[in-house]
Amino acid sequence: MAESAVPTHLQPFFMQRADKGNDTQITGDIRCSCGSTSFAAMHSRDDDCVYRLICTGCGQDILLFDARTHGWDALVCHMPGEYLGQGEETEKCESCGGECFEVTVWIEPTEKAEFISCAEGELPEEAWVNAFTWFAAHLTCTRSGKQKRGWADIETA
Ligand SMILES: [Zn+2]
Ligand SMILES: [Zn+2]
Repeated sequence: MAESAVPTHLQPFFMQRADKGNDTQITGDIRCSCGSTSFAAMHSRDDDCVYRLICTGCGQDILLFDARTHGWDALVCHMPGEYLGQGEETEKCESCGGECFEVTVWIEPTEKAEFISCAEGELPEEAWVNAFTWFAAHLTCTRSGKQKRGWADIETA
């Protein structure tokens, strides 16, 4: 079995789709540790910095992405994303106004060998999974089925 490229912080929640997995991207559906796949979806206002979910089953707060600490630029290049601190937006369905979504995430992993040569001596080898080069997520409204593609779509390298 190939080594998992799922970032450390997502490993408990990322249900990888075997049929979509390949060398250049991995796809997974987010599932809370309580078993729920329905979430409120929040992101930081006016920037692409922080994306998080609140489980509608148990209230758990799941951080999906933080540009200050996740991805190649933040980890390897010390170029963290900018957080403007303008508060948060809660996503609403464009069709029915609902606020519960199923969430699918795409990650473009980096090359492990490239990470090791660039981060040599500075970061542990196993941190390569956190230096992914693209993060994207789309939402599906649990009430109407309306999809919002590219809710998150962030190049991190
Ligand atoms: Zn939950
Ligand atoms: Zn809807």
